[in-house]
Amino acid sequence: MKLNNQELYDFFVEKQILALYHANTVGTSITYLQNEGLLSRGAVEDKGLFQTPQSSDDKDKEVNVWHDVFLDTSDLHTYFDRENHYGPILFEFDLELVKDENFEIWITKDNPIRWDKDTPYTERYFQNIEELRKLWDTIKRERKMITIRNNSSPILFNYARRAIVDDPRLLVTYSGEQVHLFNTAKSKIIENLPDNHILKGKFIPRTDCSKRCYCRQNYKDDYSPQKLKRFFL
Ligand SMILES: [Zn+2]
Repeated sequence: MKLNNQELYDFFVEKQILALYHANTVGTSITYLQNEGLLSRGAVEDKGLFQTPQSSDDKDKEVNVWHDVFLDTSDLHTYFDRENHYGPILFEFDLELVKDENFEIWITKDNPIRWDKDTPYTERYFQNIEELRKLWDTIKRERKMITIRNNSSPILFNYARRAIVDDPRLLVTYSGEQVHLFNTAKSKIIENLPDNHILKGKFIPRTDCSKRCYCRQNYKDDYSPQKLKRFFL
């Protein structure tokens, strides 16, 4: 159910949530940069643009979230001390975005991956701010996903504060050539950022990993060279 923008903004301020986050791969992020904002997966497909395939794509279509943009209420990398499963680039948006009446904002009660096509909408989404307030502390943070429904045009980067880029500190060999993942990803981003872009100079390496963060270890041990390529190159 669509939530009232101003009421939602006030609720987030009360919960001290002052930024929203969107993680993605380098490839999909470059599509966003070239098109001046975040787009739903459906909108990227409709426009014939590039995006990194995701295992949830078929499910997203089946449960009718294919044209929605997803945002989190926290930086899940620092929250869980591990890499974000959707990709190494994290866009940080100012909460002001929520006030924009052009955005139809619904919040999930669970990750749509656990829905099926018959899951009733009352089980999928918070119905109003009262219900959100009542149930907020009973549902895990990562399951409450902010969705901007029926998105067809870019969610402008004028709400973006910065983008944080993971550095796995890894060299990977592709076709006999050694590639430094972070440096290569960074140059690809810079090449695709026009001089006057609002995010120019705002792609920063992640430096706030805690001592117990598993991101580098996971990138090294759990990601195949193909998966690293899909995420970083
Ligand atoms: Zn980390």
